[in-house]
Amino acid sequence: MAVDATLPYDNQNIFAKILRGEIPCKQVYEDEFAFAFHDINPQAPTHILVVPKGPYVSWDDFSRHADDAEIAGFIRAVGKVARDAGLVERGYRLLANAGPDSHQEVPHLHVHIFAGQPLGPMLAR
Ligand code: 5GP
Repeated sequence: MAVDATLPYDNQNIFAKILRGEIPCKQVYEDEFAFAFHDINPQAPTHILVVPKGPYVSWDDFSRHADDAEIAGFIRAVGKVARDAGLVERGYRLLANAGPDSHQEVPHLHVHIFAGQPLGPMLAR
């Protein structure tokens, strides 16, 4: 079911539990601002999720309320994860669902990194 991204942050969401180490994940990267791990149900040969460490529901929440250091740190982390995974030469796609039409399922901001094959058109029609 899609998330209502206008709701307050729920610290029992699955990515909050992953950040606290309460449930396992295949970790890719961690720094002060961001944490990255492989998606449990990959939609491409490489499918990594990058989340900010702070409690932000969505891109809208993050871009409104995060401070400049959090935003810069998170954006740099997304780029570093892609570089470290060797994705720059062939390319990759970033996606962040926000709000009902996007069908965001987990109410903690996450950026998907897809790569490893030609990714086709931007949206299915
Ligand atoms: P959304 O639809 O919210 O943009 O994407 C949520 C993503 O989280 C989905 O791609 C889904 O496969 C992934 N996901 C959901 N639960 C888990 C989990 O427990 N572990 C991991 N690694 N990924 C998850």
